This record gives sequence, structure tokens and C-alpha cells, in this order.
Amino acid sequence: MDLQNLNKIGEKSITYLYKAGIYNIESLLTYYPYRYEIEKPAQLPYANKDETININATVIQTSKATYLKRNLNILRIKAEANGLVFTIIIYNRAFLKPNLKPGKQIIVTGKFDPHKRVLVASNIRFGILTKTEIIPIYHSIKNVKPYMLTNWLNEALNEDVVLDDYIPKEYIEKYNFPSKKEAIKILHKPMNEQEIYSAKNRLIYEELFLFLFKVQYLKQQKNDNEAIIKDINMDKIEAFINNLPFTLTNDQKKGIDAGIKDFTTKKTMNRLLLGDVGSGKTIVAIALMYANFLAGYQSAFMAPTEILANQHYNTIIKILENYNIKIELLIGSMSKKEKNKVITKVANNEVDILIGTHAILNENLKFPKLGFVITDEQHRFGVNQRNILQQKAIKPDVLFMSATPIPRTYALMIYGDMDKTFIKEKPQGRKEVITKVKKESELKEVLYHVLEEIKQNHQIYVVAPMILENEEMPLKTVGILKEKFSEAFQHKVPIEILHGKLKNAEKDEIMNNFKEGKTKILISTTVIEVGVDVPSASTIIIFNAERFGLATLHQLRGRVGRSNIQSYCYLICNQDIKRLQVLEESTDGFYISEKDFEFRGEGDLFGEKQSGDMTFQLADLRKDQDILKRALEDVKTWITTKEYQKVTSYQKIIDEMKFNN
Ligand code: ADP
Ligand code: MG
Repeated sequence: MDLQNLNKIGEKSITYLYKAGIYNIESLLTYYPYRYEIEKPAQLPYANKDETININATVIQTSKATYLKRNLNILRIKAEANGLVFTIIIYNRAFLKPNLKPGKQIIVTGKFDPHKRVLVASNIRFGILTKTEIIPIYHSIKNVKPYMLTNWLNEALNEDVVLDDYIPKEYIEKYNFPSKKEAIKILHKPMNEQEIYSAKNRLIYEELFLFLFKVQYLKQQKNDNEAIIKDINMDKIEAFINNLPFTLTNDQKKGIDAGIKDFTTKKTMNRLLLGDVGSGKTIVAIALMYANFLAGYQSAFMAPTEILANQHYNTIIKILENYNIKIELLIGSMSKKEKNKVITKVANNEVDILIGTHAILNENLKFPKLGFVITDEQHRFGVNQRNILQQKAIKPDVLFMSATPIPRTYALMIYGDMDKTFIKEKPQGRKEVITKVKKESELKEVLYHVLEEIKQNHQIYVVAPMILENEEMPLKTVGILKEKFSEAFQHKVPIEILHGKLKNAEKDEIMNNFKEGKTKILISTTVIEVGVDVPSASTIIIFNAERFGLATLHQLRGRVGRSNIQSYCYLICNQDIKRLQVLEESTDGFYISEKDFEFRGEGDLFGEKQSGDMTFQLADLRKDQDILKRALEDVKTWITTKEYQKVTSYQKIIDEMKFNN
């Protein structure tokens, strides 16, 4: 239902809500509070003097306000509560004095010191607090006052909106869940804490149920009977491996073996290759694309960013140089003419390997012989995208790659529809990246280090969180940093800037200059976060490190330490942030992800903005493990009954998975 249906909502307000991702009344209703303030009347004398309490009191006498400065005044009130006489002190409320007459009933919020019998108040209201009041607190929306949001929500709760409920009837009954609408109403207007708890559980269960349904549905859709058995010349594979410029690790070999086995048996590959940053996943994919080519099929390789797609294209061309394989790139920012040329070639089976961003999904591409699909950095794509390309051909084999070191138990549920291969071993000779947290005042030291590295012909990444200056947040921007670094090195060191808003050709050129060592310092936003591979880069300096989650920082750090040279990571941060120490102590992505879970919850696991497989509104995989397990069992049972075929909301979900991207 349109937001226009609400009273007292202007066009301007509607745009503000749009900006916050609230497009209709349904999404307004699911704009849940992120915490609650609980006010209940306390009894004096209250013992814990560090706790903020609310007290019903009666005014005995109010002193004249004392002015300490022009804009700082104190009001002292003698009051009585539960037969106890005490003093209230409150700052900057001189204006209340005329209303604080003897006998007046007030609700005082503040901290009470039982020895001094003094209550330092943060707020005074008139009236009596009779019962516990729970006040929902929302993330603020720009230009929208909290009371406006509350008003609209109140109205929306009275509207006759239909919300899809994804919990099947039998489970609503089984767990005695409230209706979805009731649960939503409770979150916005709770009467007691217990009620919030059960309403939340219901909504979390629903979120997880739906998510797990998708995963399990995909698993069920696999039909191995249609699998193609590929004929692969193993001698050629072996020769390929022996001709590589490096020796594969055992885990890489295992990854290739598992893939070949999927190819050559009556089984459609649906495999997740999980390996920490820098563990060398790409080469596994390349070997398998070569195998797929030997069997006579086309491969499609998807990356989440154009920079990464480009890089893969260059790597793959180089590695497969002498094998007479036709390789093309297809990305959104290419000209229409260029794109059409590639599309035609693909359709004529004149392309053996196509590399691109997820733009490949949207293009009107027809692969006559698509046999193998690879998704790099899978966690950047949603569940819905897991089977998109599979629709393009009969039943291609699919390999997903991810560095997301999610704790194993979660991986098993989130990727429950896939087979898994883990790469744990790093290529031989790799040294741990030395990581240090530094204050900005210690930057000089870091700059000396940078100079040493440049002298050794190594390159440096510098990461800043934003492109444009933002007055509200005095964050380092790429522009400011460029000036700073240029000055520090007296304009003698070539420095370039890279960010997502540049044109594709510009990005390519900048990346190439850096790769070739023409540029020594690359100042960038987090566009380099995933996958970028420049082995001779030895140092990464991350500004405002406190702004990033541990997993993101680990990914960023993974840009260095990609060869045998000793690498360094500097996290610049002026505050004392405990969690950053985790990175000083460890380079183990799995350990770091566990810690990230502990510190921040899964919401930020994949960085701030991108949506991925595990973004939930209420569910927190760390806290809600029990619900997750229960929902998984229930989904597995329910899906076998095929009841979803009769439920319209589920038909919508299935259609979305089929046709949406
Ligand atoms: P990721 O798993 O993060 O995607 P990449 O596949 O990009 O890692 O590999 C990281 C770097 O390590 C690349 O430069 C790659 O050429 C190199 N590499 C991969 N495997 C090996 C190996 N067995 N020995 C030495 N270097 C390797
Ligand atoms: Mg990679």
C-alpha cells in the first residue's frame, strides 16, 4: 500500500522515507526499532547509584535557579518519595521552576545517591508513572523526527494491509505464534518485555524459515538424472598443472580433483570452494574451465565488480595463453557495440570462456554449449542468484567461490544446498602479514616504512572510507589523502586514486599502472576490497579503520601478502578499539570471523553496504542459533510435503528465484 495513504504525510517526507529504503506501508511496518528504553517506577531508597532510574516524587519546595554561566543553570528541588525526603539537582531547566510548585507530582529520571540523598536528574516530567513503559528506539532517518515516524507507524498499524506470512499454518499452531500483524504491532507498541521477546522470536523464525526454504528448494531442484558426463583427457590436465609457474598446494589439487569428479560422473556440480583470502582459489577455477573446454563446453565466470572481472580476464588469458582457447570479457560498462559483438560470438559458440560481472545475468545471452558456471566471491550475491545462470542452459556444472570465512556450522546451513571444498593451506613460502594499529600522530613512522618499500620496488595501497568530504563525519577522503601523501613524498612518488565512480576505462588504466609498478601508491575506497591481486604490493594502510568490520578489514588486508615478500598492514585509528587487536594477533580468516561474530553480529560480516546471503532484518545468526536449527528441521520436513505448491506467497518466491536477479 502506498505511503500516500497515510494522513499527514507530505511528498517531501515520502522522499526521505524512500531514501531510507521505506517504499510503502508494508516496509514502514517492518522498520523495526533496534532497541527499547524501559521506564518503570523505582522505590527509594534505591541502592544502585550507577543505574538510571525513574521515580514518582512530590515537590516540597523548589529553589531559585542558580546561574553558573550564562548558559548553565542549576535547579534544586526538595522532594519526597516513599516517605523519604531528598534533593533533586537538574541542569538547564530553570524554565520549569514556575511549574514545580509544592505538592506537584513529577516523574524524575536520573541517578540516586542514597548517602547524600541526592538525585541528579536528566529529565523531569509531570504526572505519575504507574506501570512499566517501554519506548521503542528507531535508527534515525534523515529529516524525519522520531515523533513523525511514531505517528505514521500508529496510522500504518491501523491500515488494512496484507502482509505475506511465510510461516506455514501448521508451524504457527505448533509454536503457538502470534499472527504476523500482531507480532509487528508488539514490536512497535509493546506492553511488556516478555511480549517483545516472543514477537521477535516469531519474526526471526519466519525470516530464517524463508531463507532456509530457498536454500533447500534449490537443493531439491537439483536433478542429477539430467547430468552430463564429461569426457576429459586427464593427461592434458596433468600437463597443464605441470606447466604452471608454481606448484599447487595439496588443497588446490583436491579442489581440482573434486571438480573433475563432478564433471565426469553422473552428477551436476553444485560446489562451494571456500578458502581464505590469498589461498589461491582462482587457479582451481581456471584448471576446471580448461577441463570443461577439453570436454567441449563453454564456461561462464562471474565476478562481483568490474575491476575484478577485468583482473580475472587478464589472469586467465595469460595462464591459458598456449592452449588455443577463446576467451572474452563482457561487462556492463562496455559500449553497446562491443557487447553485441561478444554476445554474437557467444551465441555462435565462438567463445569458450566468458568472463564478466553479474551483468552476464541480465544480458540476453544464449550459450549453445554452456557446461560450467563459476561465481567468484559468492557472498556478494544473494540466494536468488545462486541458480540464475543455471537457467541459461540445460544443466551446467556450477562452482561458487568465496573467501567468506564464516564459521563452519553456519556455512553448513547457509550453503546447505551445496557440496563444499575447503582450501586451508596457503601457497608455500607465504609470510604472515605484519599488522599494526597506529594513531594518526604516528603516521610519520608509517611513511618512513612506505619509503623503504618503494625503494624495494613494492607498491602501497592506501584505503579511505569515502570519496566525498562529508562535514558530519570528518573522515579521510581519497582526495585529502592524496594531497597528504604527495606532500610527504615531495611530489616525487607517483600516486593515483581509484574509486567506484570512475569510468571503466579509467579504472583499468589505473589498475594496470599500479600492477606494473608505474604507480607506487594507490589511494582507494573499498572497491579494492574483494579479490584484487597485485603480488608485488607489500603494504596496505587503512584509514579510519574503526569504521570497518573485522571481516572487511581482513579482506582488505588480503590485498597484500600475495607472494613471498614480507607484507605489512597498518590500521590507522585514533580511538582505542579493542577489536582491531584481533587483526594484530591473527591472520586466520576463520578465527577472525568468529571474533567478528562476537563483536558485531553477522549483520556487518560482509561489510557495510552490500547485500549478501546473510542480511536479515531481525535475525542474528550468532544469537539465534536455536531458532535457526529449529527452522532448518521444520523446513526440511515441510518441503517434502510439497505444500508450498499450494501457497501463493511461496509461489511468488519460487518465481522470483527463477526469473529475478
Ligand atoms: P584468492 O583465493 O584470494 O582468490 P588468488 O586465486 O587470487 O587468491 O591467488 C592469490 C595469488 O597467489 C595469485 O597471485 C596467484 O597467482 C598466487 N598463487 C595461487 N596459487 C599459488 C601457488 N600454489 N603457489 C604460489 N602462488 C600461488
Ligand atoms: Mg579471488
